[in-house]
Amino acid sequence: MIKRVLILAPHTDDGEFGCGGAISKFLAKGTDVFYVAFSTAEKSVPEGFPKDILKKEVTLATSKLGISPSNLLLYDFTVRELPAYRQHILEIMVELKKDLKPDLVFLPSLGDLHQDHQTVAMEGVRAFRNATLLGYEEPWNNLAFSTSCFIALDEINIKDKLAALACYESQARRPYANEEFIRSLATTRGTQIGVPYAEAFETIRLFID
Ligand SMILES: [Zn+2]
Repeated sequence: MIKRVLILAPHTDDGEFGCGGAISKFLAKGTDVFYVAFSTAEKSVPEGFPKDILKKEVTLATSKLGISPSNLLLYDFTVRELPAYRQHILEIMVELKKDLKPDLVFLPSLGDLHQDHQTVAMEGVRAFRNATLLGYEEPWNNLAFSTSCFIALDEINIKDKLAALACYESQARRPYANEEFIRSLATTRGTQIGVPYAEAFETIRLFID
């Protein structure tokens, strides 16, 4: 019954890490998927890379997943300073809700410790009242995570997620940016529900029309 899915990513790559497999699965079913990143994190780009590298990487990564370039929206809020722009971010989300009317919104977990992730999570809950809200898992940022929703994945979805994440050459030094970690987490979550692979989500709001 889900027709339109919206991914809210505080930074480019959060959507691919948190729900890249689910994106692949929804796109294969013909669901419309929109991806919004609020910061291209120019201040966090490692030395040796151009400052706008994450813009290029997210464009490539989301297209690898099959998201249409017209469904990718990028904003340039300063990394680590999203809390200062809460109202502006809320207003953007309210417009997105009117324009896109998503049935399902993926956003950071309410227990995420990063201030930019917290801002997107809290404003997302305020803006999208009549949609199902699922908080995605980023274990390096989660103090606790309630695995109250699972999306079962196939090998192709894991491959798509890995191919998308491989586009982020500037982030390859991160300890979680590797195939072993991605597969291990997907296997762990799959084992919880008796399937080979899954992504787990925190059910923030379940909306039934
Ligand atoms: Zn992030």
